Amino acid sequence: MNLPDPTALRGENPVTVKGWCPGAVRPMAASDGLVVRIRPPAGRLSRAQASAVAALAERYAHPVLELTNRAHLQLRGVAPAQHAPLLDALQRLGLADADAAGEARRNVQVQPLWTDGDITPGLALALSERLAGDGAPALPAKFGFVVDTGPQPCLRGAYADIRLERHGAGVLVHADGADHGVAVPVAQAPACALALADWFLAAGGAPTGRGRMAALLQRQPLPAAWRQTPVAAAPAAPPHPGPQAAGFLAGLAFGLLPAHTLAVLAEHGALRLTPWRALLVEGARHLPALPELVCTADDARLRVAACTGAPGCEQAAGPTRSLARELAALVPPGQRLHVSGCPKGCAHPQPAVTVVTTPGGLDLVRWGTAASQPAFQGLDRPTLTTHLHESFAHAAPL
Ligand code: SF4
Repeated sequence: MNLPDPTALRGENPVTVKGWCPGAVRPMAASDGLVVRIRPPAGRLSRAQASAVAALAERYAHPVLELTNRAHLQLRGVAPAQHAPLLDALQRLGLADADAAGEARRNVQVQPLWTDGDITPGLALALSERLAGDGAPALPAKFGFVVDTGPQPCLRGAYADIRLERHGAGVLVHADGADHGVAVPVAQAPACALALADWFLAAGGAPTGRGRMAALLQRQPLPAAWRQTPVAAAPAAPPHPGPQAAGFLAGLAFGLLPAHTLAVLAEHGALRLTPWRALLVEGARHLPALPELVCTADDARLRVAACTGAPGCEQAAGPTRSLARELAALVPPGQRLHVSGCPKGCAHPQPAVTVVTTPGGLDLVRWGTAASQPAFQGLDRPTLTTHLHESFAHAAPL
């Protein structure tokens, strides 16, 4: 996945690009306190873990958690003095690593639609163990793996550098951006994925400690040894909220998950995290009507994306989620509006009709990312609304 350099396209409003992602062991300081990010093993919280995390959020953090677009669950607003007891509790729950290096390497997203007997959870755990263990390759912090071994891949849109997908009786391991990979038996797939990561490093994929697979493949071809089996086409669109074979998929507007909602969901089943701002509640066919849950495909909140914005992010020039909520009614079905607090565009790196808050007002990108050159700058709300109507009339359906 090729992401634009946020500072390159606009030539203004430079943003700080941090070369690492926060974790639980190594949280990130934000203007509202520490951000503590949980990477649950195999992307799943048992009912007991989910319930305990809800209680920890109430005790140590802002009582609204966030589900990120890398399928991690994060707590915000943690006071530095509270980090140690929070981390200790997460480690006792099996939700945090012993050290920051292992945590950073264990960057594995897991397809959440797996059903009983599926190879997915076992494969994800085996890969995570190898990544967190001694001798694992020292990969860039944002370098990630996707275990997408359901009947059909469903995470092609998710951030990843190495993808593991089902192939016959085994697993196809392929580099992000490549049209061929290598098919191996399931038991060999974790070692094969790490070998591909080794090639990435040896080929100069991260010369300064940063780098992504797709970017490397634009500079040099993948060796023939990694191009043996074609990568099959896969649906790009994630599943809609509602009942799935494995449980109920519930959307969360902007990925926001109040602690009390998390506690209620934990009563209905174990939770699988997704990169689609949605949780799958294992075994559930129905969920209680909670206002934060998006349970139908026609909910207008699914058509907007917004980052943390002000006041939670120090780089934001204004609030984003309240604005996105207000503007959602303007977005026609099949279209997407992205509201970003700055040109970094954390919430939606793909092109869309995009509004960016700036010190001088609201910028509107008719079709592009938050880093793209805006068509209009410094707009007020009424003028933005007028231009949005016009932009949606011309935007391509997603
Ligand atoms: S896009 Fe939003 S959350 Fe990301 S750095 Fe900018 S203001 Fe902060």
